[in-house]
Amino acid sequence: MVAPRFRSRTFRRIKVKTPGNRNTIHYRLRKPAKAQCGKCGRPLQGVARARPIQLRRFSRSQKRPERPFGGVLCSSCTRDELRARAK
Ligand SMILES: [Zn+2]
Repeated sequence: MVAPRFRSRTFRRIKVKTPGNRNTIHYRLRKPAKAQCGKCGRPLQGVARARPIQLRRFSRSQKRPERPFGGVLCSSCTRDELRARAK
């Protein structure tokens, strides 16, 4: 029997083939939810979905789009926002 904390679905299950040719289940923490647009709430494209400790290994440009409001607004909301500010 596995440890009690692994019996819930808090952890995701990964099937791993060990060097001794046995199939075992490894337990890993789940990824956080997708980042959402601050205006319309749609999931953002190009925003890394990982735990903070893994995000530290990524460069800035790997974490979110390199443009104004990158990682905050979706592309269409960014376009609307910039047009509204240009006037
Ligand atoms: Zn949006």
